[in-house]
Amino acid sequence: MGGPPRIPLSTPVFGGREIEYLQECIETGWVAAGGPFVRKFEDAFAARHGLERAVATNSGTAALHLALRALGIGAGDEVIVPALTFVASANPIRYVGATPVFADVEPDTYTLDPAEVERLVTERTRAVMVVHLYGHPADMDAVNDAARRHGLAVIEDATEALGSAYRGEPCGLLGQIGCFSFNGNKIMTTGGGGMVLTRDDDLLERVRYLSLQAREPGTREYVHGDVGFNYAISNLHAAVGLAQLERLDLFLSAKRAIAARYRERLADVPGFRVCAEAEWAHSNFWLPSVLVQDELGRDRVAVMADLLSLGIDTRPFFTPLHMLKPYQHVERLPVAEDLHARGISLPASVDLKPDDQDRVLDALAGVAAAAAP
Ligand SMILES: *Cc1c(COP(=O)(O)O)cnc(C)c1O
Repeated sequence: MGGPPRIPLSTPVFGGREIEYLQECIETGWVAAGGPFVRKFEDAFAARHGLERAVATNSGTAALHLALRALGIGAGDEVIVPALTFVASANPIRYVGATPVFADVEPDTYTLDPAEVERLVTERTRAVMVVHLYGHPADMDAVNDAARRHGLAVIEDATEALGSAYRGEPCGLLGQIGCFSFNGNKIMTTGGGGMVLTRDDDLLERVRYLSLQAREPGTREYVHGDVGFNYAISNLHAAVGLAQLERLDLFLSAKRAIAARYRERLADVPGFRVCAEAEWAHSNFWLPSVLVQDELGRDRVAVMADLLSLGIDTRPFFTPLHMLKPYQHVERLPVAEDLHARGISLPASVDLKPDDQDRVLDALAGVAAAAAP
């Protein structure tokens, strides 16, 4: 068998102070939530965003769940959310007993079409959740305008957008509350983890309280004022997070360089359209992607199979959530469905070698040449 070594889609990169910090956890016995790395990680993450405080969680999903609960969203409420996203955007809306209302997205940015807010808003709508898909920020001015007109909260699912910005403002601080993820394949990882950011101090403290089983501070007694969650991050995970955060700028510049190379080299390859940045956007290019065009004469399933046969791992765009069993309903959302049918994310590990990226580019050029009439 053999063949060339496999190029993975995106793998984490270590090599900073992860081991040193983890060793400190073990030696001091501080492994669980409440350890010193939790506060250090939160403070460093907050400072990076020009804030004093943030709340770290044990996943991005937990961060979104806490954001919804802290905003008081619950049974009978509706939350507008783009259909083209990972399922963990919508599941927490269901966890709190509210109803996700799926919106279509924009063809160039893959993010929430702001006009959908007007189309979908009802008396029950309480919030809009934007998702900065694959790292590209949503059109926030238009979303915030629509939300303001209807008195809606804006929640950012910024789980894929750490380091991205909209008109110079960092993602995660563009609505009322922003949520991040540090899962294994995100731009930086803690193994599993998340973070909540908001400029609203009361809201942030409510998130913290709910994440710690809603235990009343300031007493040694076990007094719980609400049905809370065990959603705090552990000291071990926060230790890895702090070490990763120290190298985030390196990761971000590597991702941008990878995306720029794909964009340049694929400009002349017919049949593939590369994601670009909107004029107001600074993307972290977490997962650079292409859309397979009709002129290629092959669909994205065939292209992905060809690449896999050459040892190149890719990923299809998310299945729009209104097409999934727990969320199925009859309405068509044509842009989301079309992007799903065409979209492929390309290998983009932070340590992807130029030679390996050339292999991906050559493979795509080969597919295009073979398909040419
Ligand atoms: C990763 C991700 C999440 C969930 O984050 P976890 O840390 O995996 O729980 C939510 N939404 C989107 C869009 C994601 O990509």
